[in-house]
Amino acid sequence: MLKIDNELCIGCGICEDQCAFAAIEVKDGIAEVGENCTLCGACIEVCEPGALVMDIQGDTVKTDLASWSGVWVFCEYRQSQLAQVSLELLGIGRKLADRRGVSLCAVIIGSDIGTCAKSLTGYGADTVYAVDHQDLEHFTEDRYGRILARLIGEHRPEIVLAGATAIGRSFIPGVATILDAGLTADCTSLEIREEDGALLQTRPAFGGNIMATIECPRSRPQMATVRPKVMKASEFDSSRSGEVIAVDVQTEELASRIRVVESVAAGEETVNIQESDILVSGGRGLENEKGFELIRRLAEALNADVAASRAVVDAGWIPYPHQVGQTGKTVAPKLYIACGISGAVQHVAGMQSADVIVAINRDGNAPIFNVADFGIVGDLNEVIPKLITKIEEHRKA
Ligand SMILES: Cc1cc2nc3c(=O)[nH]c(=O)nc-3n(C[C@H](O)[C@H](O)[C@H](O)COP(=O)(O)OP(=O)(O)OC[C@H]3O[C@@H](n4cnc5c(N)ncnc54)[C@H](O)[C@@H]3O)c2cc1C
Repeated sequence: MLKIDNELCIGCGICEDQCAFAAIEVKDGIAEVGENCTLCGACIEVCEPGALVMDIQGDTVKTDLASWSGVWVFCEYRQSQLAQVSLELLGIGRKLADRRGVSLCAVIIGSDIGTCAKSLTGYGADTVYAVDHQDLEHFTEDRYGRILARLIGEHRPEIVLAGATAIGRSFIPGVATILDAGLTADCTSLEIREEDGALLQTRPAFGGNIMATIECPRSRPQMATVRPKVMKASEFDSSRSGEVIAVDVQTEELASRIRVVESVAAGEETVNIQESDILVSGGRGLENEKGFELIRRLAEALNADVAASRAVVDAGWIPYPHQVGQTGKTVAPKLYIACGISGAVQHVAGMQSADVIVAINRDGNAPIFNVADFGIVGDLNEVIPKLITKIEEHRKA
């Protein structure tokens, strides 16, 4: 908890001004900490007399941190396929493991895993723990959670990474709770601090307006989920070798309160824009739902998929699976064409990794031009038809 030394406090109010949560109030010349305090520590940094102290004595502190070693990646396997994010996690996991001088292990849970487990060594894993059982064909939080938590408890890796996917988001927090570990969700960057080997986990905070770097100094493992398409995927290298360990499943781990009634494959309406090479994206500048006809024509000419800003998804012009951004999907296509999109930070957070960004906007000062490689200032109703004509002419030629 945050404590105030009344002897040292001079009631200057700098901490009160600094607190983003209005958790500090100066009363009768002395600062007081209220219930809103999140222990962020911002006030401690600005307190010149040193009157603010973080008292961690009452908190749980694991004393055996040094006995946790290695980097683990949970690899998602669904309907006989490895999720692309698993390769991205193996890419960053390999880097972190090399920086720490430890091994990289992958955990894969499912049914009929077959050669997939072995292939993970080619993507950088030194060891693969393969949990293969017919009752694990469908993902269920309780079964997967118990098995992963047991394996982590037995092998004690210092870092555990998983995808911030529907599956990762639903069961990794439960695993962290079982292990009494911290968890940083939706990380966009992971690094090792040189001095003490701590994992620095960076993620957007306060509506994407700041990037917060979080560390976990007093417990292990350090757990993080990472959004798909944020990290570079590991390349397959057939010369790499590693060990695949088949893990036995304990009967009690298969008990489940969940029954999977049906599994429905994603249809057209649930297009996965994270897999697209080219995206044509529409925003409020389209003026109405009909505006998407123009976007679809351009997408068709380019063999692209259609994406959107949140404003138009909220307006019901296009379904949510098309939304790009902080509360939508993070995409990294080769080409991203933003049409009538202003470029709010929450939108840019989801598309700035595109190789080439083209923006069409009639406002030359729109922030989208700050991230665009090519900008066209003009009315999209005039620009897009001309672009389509040019593309078609080029195709014919
Ligand atoms: C917590 C939080 C999370 C959010 N998450 C997301 C998210 O995931 N994704 C997201 O996109 N937003 C998100 N937002 C909303 C975001 O802040 C913006 O409100 C939203 O991105 C704006 O959408 P837009 O660019 O389509 O609309 P606007 O900001 O209204 O921009 C429309 C643009 O179209 C241009 N324009 C208008 N007419 C034409 C024309 N005829 N030709 C050319 N240009 C034209 C205008 O100049 C303007 O720049 C979030 C906000 C919050 C607070």
